[in-house]
Amino acid sequence: MRRPILAGNWKMNKTRDEAIHFVLGVDYKLPKNGVDCIICAPAIILRDIVKRADILQVGAQNMNENDKGAYTGEISPIMLKDTGVKYVIIGHSERRQYYNETDSIVNAKIKKALEYDLKPIVCVGEDLSERESKLTNNVLERQITKAFEGVEFDDPENVVVAYEPIWAIGTGKTASSEQAEAACKYIREKLAGLYGKDVADRVRILYGGSMKPDNVAELVAQPDVDGGLVGGASLNEESFIAMSKAFKGE
Ligand code: PEP
Repeated sequence: MRRPILAGNWKMNKTRDEAIHFVLGVDYKLPKNGVDCIICAPAIILRDIVKRADILQVGAQNMNENDKGAYTGEISPIMLKDTGVKYVIIGHSERRQYYNETDSIVNAKIKKALEYDLKPIVCVGEDLSERESKLTNNVLERQITKAFEGVEFDDPENVVVAYEPIWAIGTGKTASSEQAEAACKYIREKLAGLYGKDVADRVRILYGGSMKPDNVAELVAQPDVDGGLVGGASLNEESFIAMSKAFKGE
């Protein structure tokens, strides 16, 4: 039985005061059981959120693949550990697109995150032209194979994959539950090829792309969709709480 995840990706939104207001207003209203609720916030306010979160868990949105050194403006895994976060998003499509994050950088970041006991939320997904050319599975196969090349982990619960079709991110166009299930199932099959079925059956695979209170229940009811990575709809307190109630067990 995989414990579902509702992970908010705030991207470059919310000041420290706004973030604290959100956490104080939301944390005590979240389900205590049945779902891991996570907020991935801007690095500069992570510690402030960790200090105030009880049910909410906290993640970063990015991390450098080196321990430390001359990498101006970057945030190291050691610094993230110091804030108390447990998760880190790796390879979000916006980072791949705007900051030239390649499959091999994603691979190095996953290894480094696991070395520091940070749980990577590894994002993969095709763009619109790839979907229209029926290349979704080819893209997912390439991204999963390269992301996990040489990656070892003891506990499959420490690794999360998010299927995020780029055409659905921030566009209001959500993948159908059939499309989300097919992609998440395919990712699980690829993980089974790399790590065996028992391990793949315990890795949590999320859907991300214009998820909101209206569509979350149908998406997470799919057998291979273990939750959501949510951008826009995670910024609003009511909608984050509403989405958290869509999970079984509540
Ligand atoms: C995301 O950025 O990971 C995302 C899924 O965004 P949105 O929910 O806004 O589409």
